[in-house]
Amino acid sequence: MNKVILLRYGEVFLKGKNRNVFENALLNNIKSAVFAVENTRNAEIKKIGGRYLLSGFNEENLETLKIRLKKVFGLVSLSVAHEVETDVLNIENLVKAFVNENLNSNIKTFKVEVKRADKRFPINSIDFSSKIGGLVLELFPNLKVDLHNPEFLLEIDIRENGKTYVFAGRESCCGGLPVGVSGNALVMLSGGIDSPVATYLVAKRGLKISAIHFHSYPYTSKQAKDKVIKLANEVKDYTGEFNLYCVSFTKIQEEIHKNCKDGYMITIMRRIMMRICEILCEKYGFSAIVTGENLGQVASQTVERLTSTESVLKNHIVLRPLVTFDKLEIIDIAKQIGTFETSILPYEDCCTVFLPKNPLIKPKIDLVEKEEEKLDIDWLVKNAIETMEIIRI
Ligand code: ATP
Ligand code: MG
Repeated sequence: MNKVILLRYGEVFLKGKNRNVFENALLNNIKSAVFAVENTRNAEIKKIGGRYLLSGFNEENLETLKIRLKKVFGLVSLSVAHEVETDVLNIENLVKAFVNENLNSNIKTFKVEVKRADKRFPINSIDFSSKIGGLVLELFPNLKVDLHNPEFLLEIDIRENGKTYVFAGRESCCGGLPVGVSGNALVMLSGGIDSPVATYLVAKRGLKISAIHFHSYPYTSKQAKDKVIKLANEVKDYTGEFNLYCVSFTKIQEEIHKNCKDGYMITIMRRIMMRICEILCEKYGFSAIVTGENLGQVASQTVERLTSTESVLKNHIVLRPLVTFDKLEIIDIAKQIGTFETSILPYEDCCTVFLPKNPLIKPKIDLVEKEEEKLDIDWLVKNAIETMEIIRI
């Protein structure tokens, strides 16, 4: 039996005029996912009747392909189907083999559903459903037909391309919009739990992401940086390949520590991080900055603090997909997407270096600006960007 995978998409379908853009992005992302799996060179992806069909792969790769495809945003479900040349006898023989392989005595009820897109097929859907239903009952006489809530739904899809697909059941994919259709954004990726989840969530809404990480080597270890690279690789199946910009924050932190009042450390750090992000946005054409910030997760995550960080930006917005989430909700997603275990590895983040005893919780912008005058921010920013390392993930 020749196995193929049927891939269905949801929201994409609703996008009227832009439908082509969405379908092309989705098709490209499906291709990248499939060809990232080893030994798939002969695989073929075609569009048939409002869905995609993947064929020509080695059956031993089926499970890996399914796992990979379930991470392609825009797909809502998939089914592993058997394909035959459309012909009554062919289909009947396939159904016999298929039910023998897939039905067992635990299953009590079933239903057959035929879709006849190919009107050349000589039997209409209703008659063919009952003919096939009769065939199944001959093989499994204890089964009962249940039209409303069958345990086993056998679907027979007779397409215009001269092929028929037989399958049972649909496996959920992750939904969302194809990566790329909503533009580009720069994610601020720390080594924590939140920012990989934020990355996943904005990619799910169709944003193509790149990432930036600030480190304070040698105050932070090489392992801390490796951890971020590992996290970046863990979200890659969802986001596609991307650049990780690794920026040294050491000099900047030393200068703030040396020159500015203690309580302003974190506020000024964040504002300088934002300025660096905005320059990269302009340089590489990202339209937004994404963070894993949350409201009230810790005492210092206040609206005033978010405002003081954001107010340095001239032409870009900050997206904070986690702003209203409970920590437990974030952890659930981190576990589901496979980043949690890496995120809880115990390496330091640059924000924990030179941590003041009493950080400002509600910074006043005019006072912050006064403190910043003690620094040559333009030079610090320029220097940080000139020395940054670009890692392809
Ligand atoms: P996370 O779990 O993502 O580290 P957090 O709860 O620890 O978040 P903060 O440390 O206040 O919260 O960081 C808030 C956000 O700022 C992070 O989610 C991330 O987007 C950004 N950020 C913090 N530190 C860094 C860093 N070293 N490099 C890049 N971005 C950072
Ligand atoms: Mg953190």
